[in-house]
Amino acid sequence: MIFKKRKKDVSKNPFYDERDTLVLYLRCDKCGEVFMSHIRKMTELFADYQNNRYVLNKEYIGSQCPNRIQVRAVFKPNYRLESFEISGGTFITREEYEESFEKGR
Ligand SMILES: [Zn+2]
Repeated sequence: MIFKKRKKDVSKNPFYDERDTLVLYLRCDKCGEVFMSHIRKMTELFADYQNNRYVLNKEYIGSQCPNRIQVRAVFKPNYRLESFEISGGTFITREEYEESFEKGR
């Protein structure tokens, strides 16, 4: 089977689903610093049983500026993304994250 590598549309779903972990790549709106974040489904998602969903609330502060990046997302019980929002930063693709390091070389 041949897998064609397709570019992910992070404006629709910024989360890379890797079994037990969700991976996020983001960029600070203030200074352009890039972040990679591994979110463990079992421990870092809040199980909201009353509403039958998982909720993620995360805050990132980089090493280059004091800007806070806030990420909030809601998932269905099967970890399908329902909604998400970000403030102070922008979601980027894995490729964009990796490219930002290659430029510096
Ligand atoms: Zn920053």
